[in-house]
This record gives sequence, structure tokens and C-alpha cells, in this order.
Amino acid sequence: MERFDCVIVGAGHGGAQAAQALRQNGFEGSVAMIGDETELPYDRPSLSKDYLAGKKPFERLRLRPEAFWAERGIALRLGRRVVSVDPAARALGCDDGSTIEYRHLIWATGGVPRRLTCAGHDHPAVQYLRSRADSDRMIAALPGIRRVVIVGGGYIGLEAAAVLRELGKAVTLVEAQERVLARVAAEPVSRFCEAEHRAQGVQVLLGTGVEEIAGAEGGGCTVRLSDGRDCPADLVVVGIGILPEIGPLAEAGARARDGIEVDAFCRTSLPDVWCIGDCAILRDGPGIRIESVQNANDQAATVAKAICGRPEPYAATPWFWSNQYDLKLQTVGLNLGHDATVLRGDPAGRTFSLVYLREGVVIAADCINAAKDFVQARKLIEAGCHVPADLLKDPERPLRELLEVV
Ligand SMILES: Cc1cc2nc3c(=O)[nH]c(=O)nc-3n(C[C@H](O)[C@H](O)[C@H](O)COP(=O)(O)OP(=O)(O)OC[C@H]3O[C@@H](n4cnc5c(N)ncnc54)[C@H](O)[C@@H]3O)c2cc1C
Repeated sequence: MERFDCVIVGAGHGGAQAAQALRQNGFEGSVAMIGDETELPYDRPSLSKDYLAGKKPFERLRLRPEAFWAERGIALRLGRRVVSVDPAARALGCDDGSTIEYRHLIWATGGVPRRLTCAGHDHPAVQYLRSRADSDRMIAALPGIRRVVIVGGGYIGLEAAAVLRELGKAVTLVEAQERVLARVAAEPVSRFCEAEHRAQGVQVLLGTGVEEIAGAEGGGCTVRLSDGRDCPADLVVVGIGILPEIGPLAEAGARARDGIEVDAFCRTSLPDVWCIGDCAILRDGPGIRIESVQNANDQAATVAKAICGRPEPYAATPWFWSNQYDLKLQTVGLNLGHDATVLRGDPAGRTFSLVYLREGVVIAADCINAAKDFVQARKLIEAGCHVPADLLKDPERPLRELLEVV
């Protein structure tokens, strides 16, 4: 039996940042990080970008070299999965039969891909993209693959489509909604991305679901769509969202809905148990889990400060990025509840931003190849002031100037 002053479950973005932040904030107690993957913490977003494209070796994805953790006295327990939490005994049960006791527990377990449930969902051609192992499986199969069907037109599906298209595969993207990125962006951004993918030769099928995956003679499969169409495929990449990894903690009694509920300090309803990243949902927040590296890192910092006796409520402005072909998409803020949008620039020029407003206040911006807008929109969002649409829409006028005008 081992015991640590702080045990972090999950050695991903949030877990790694929490461990570092504890030390940066002067935490002198013992710290352990338990992760079910066998890898040192690594950069997950690259799995659908440079790593899948073969442009970056895995070694360059590591967030820190092995020595970094040892030098800071952070014990790593990798390849081990926590299967139970006993909040009364302050003890964790692991899948190898070991027990680890904690004084503080930080739950940072991310999520698992939402799976297809249709007939044939377990066909070997069907793959998901969340871990290094998923990516490696796909990379190993690529030489024998000509036709790919991507299920889901969210960021992961679109990024995978871009990489696989650049690798010369015939790519069909199937999206159940009437536009790609429907959950996260407004129509102009969706239509722009759709047009870019079509221009690159991706067949984009909208308003279409998957009914069945059937085995095909000679290998591969046939993806049968709700519109009756059959798409032959050697590989089916499914990117239809994630489910938060909260089982053991929820079973232990932590208040949960679509994620573990946390307060502004990322504290759960269990004593000295904290939760961060993709699997956490702010009790008094926007009502959704935020799945981004920024959110995982900033929540990790919030918890570390609270544990070290300098609590500061989580108040970071969300941001996110995506790379597709030569496009850099950056989002700042949350567009939930927007009642107006303003387009800055012309999508035809492939450099533009879509600014989201609620009651005249800028709340978010999607910036496509527009890094300056991304940086400056954040200041406008944080200022929370009213900005007239006619000023916003002039792309020649830097957003930072508007801060002085309004
Ligand atoms: C392909 C891909 C591309 C992405 N692209 C972007 C992007 O461009 N920009 C962006 O901001 N975000 C992106 N994301 C999202 C981003 O990676 C996540 O938001 C971020 O990793 C969340 O950090 P986390 O610590 O909450 O979870 P994770 O980084 O997923 O870490 C959780 C870790 O906990 C482990 N674990 C789970 N359960 C247990 C258990 N019971 N016991 C032990 N270990 C456990 C998991 O295996 C995992 O290693 C992408 C994600 C994916 C999959």
C-alpha cells in the first residue's frame, strides 16, 4: 500500500499540469500521478494533426522528459487504472490490485470516444482517435488503405479528414447535422470549412447518419447511410464526441451529471477531491464540459493554488485551436447564447473572423488565419463592453483600437 499527500488520477494534459503547478506553488508533500496509458504525459491534440500525418515523431509529443518528473519528486504510476474510490478511507483501488491512499485527490481522467452503436459497429475497420495507441493503430494500417469514411464533422473528424486527404486517401465525411462544426460554430465558419474540404477533394455528406457497417468481400467494409447510400471503406474514423471518464468517482458519490460537478475552485462534492479538464463540469458555469487543453491547464492551476492555500476562482477565458490543411482556426470565448454575429473580412480571402455578440457585448470569436484578431478579441471579451457592429466588421480596423473607442 502506498500513500501520497496528493494523488492525481490521469496523466494527460490536466494531470501533468496539476503536478507541475503544485510544485510551482510550493507544495512540498508527496505527489503521485496515476495513468492508465503507458506513456509519459504527451500532447494529445497532435494525434489528429502532425503525428497522424507522420510529420512529428512521438518523442516530440512528450510534454516533459522523464527526468523532469523525477527531479520534482513526482512519482509516476503508469499503465495502471484506478477502478474504485473510497472517500471515507481516502483510498483508491487500481486494476492491478494495488491500493493507493491520498490526502488530496485530483481527478483528471478526460474522456473516452463516444462509440457507434449501429449494426457492425465493432467491425475492425472502425477506429477512434483519443490515445497514442489509437493513432498508432491507424498509422500502421494506412499503407493498405485507399478509401476512408469519417463519421462526424467536428474538429477531430475534420482534422483527420485533412491529414488523410493530404496523404492521398479518398475521403468521405459523413455528418448527421446539416453543417459541419454545428455544435461549436455559426454557419459562416461551418460553410467555409465545408468548402475548404470539398476543394481539397473530400466528399462531404451532410444530414446523413450511419445505419450499418457491413463487411465487404475482399476486406474493408461498406458504410450504409441513412439516405440509402453505400460507401465502401477500408477505414472508418469515428469522431462523434466523448463521454467523460467519471465512473469510479461518481460511484463513490461525487455529484455528477455529464461530468463531475465542481465549484469555482474545481472542488467536487467529496472532501479533498478535486476534478479538472474534460471530465469536469462547473456547477455554476455554462452547463457544458469544456474540452480543451487550455481548460485542463487552467483548471489544474486553479486546483494547485487552492490546495496550496491561495484559492482563486477559475475565471479563464476559453480558447481553442484547430489545424486543417494550411488553415489555422482559433477560437476565443464561448459563443453559447449569442444573438448576433459579425463577419470581419471575406472568407473567400481565407482570412477572416466571425465575432459573436450577446446583447451587443462581444462574447467569442472564431478567427481563421487571423491570429491578431484572436489575440485582440480576447481583450474585448474580457472587457465585456458594448461594441457597435459597424466598427467590428471593418477588418482594417484592429480590434484593439475598439477597446479605446467603446
Ligand atoms: C485527437 C484529438 C485532438 C485534439 N485537438 C485539440 C486541439 O487542437 N486543441 C485543444 O485545445 N484541444 C484538443 N483536444 C482536446 C484535448 O486533448 C483535451 O481537452 C485535453 O487532453 C484534456 O485534458 P484532460 O487532462 O482532461 O484529459 P486527457 O488529456 O485525455 O488525460 C486523461 C488521462 O487519464 C487517463 N485515465 C482515464 N481514466 C483513468 C483511470 N481510471 N485511471 C487512470 N488513468 C485514467 C486517460 O487514459 C488519459 O491518459 C484534442 C483531443 C483529441 C483526442
